[in-house]
Amino acid sequence: MHEYSLVGGVVKQLQASAAENNIKQISRVALVIGKLTMAVPDALQFSFEAFRKEEPLLKEDAVLEIREEPVIGECKECQHRFEIKDYEFICPSCSSVNIKLVSGRELYIDYYEGE
Ligand SMILES: [Zn+2]
Repeated sequence: MHEYSLVGGVVKQLQASAAENNIKQISRVALVIGKLTMAVPDALQFSFEAFRKEEPLLKEDAVLEIREEPVIGECKECQHRFEIKDYEFICPSCSSVNIKLVSGRELYIDYYEGE
């Protein structure tokens, strides 16, 4: 499952960061995911719960917060910025297909809490 490996990567980052900051247990993790990652929030939650059982760093009632970022494109012809829906990479202002992706592909830890 795509989401399972995504969460696995997040857990690895948390392990490294927690070790650096001397954090023993994490109670909350906030993730930002771009819609182009195709990650399904429910599946991310499900995967997180699976990792929570195995990974002592995550408290047994640790919470995963997910914020989805829209897909934003910028037209290279007229510099218009707009939200891309249904993979329509077409400028609504001038109909150009010369579109640069501004956001939507990211997946990162916004913050986490622990002690
Ligand atoms: Zn345009």
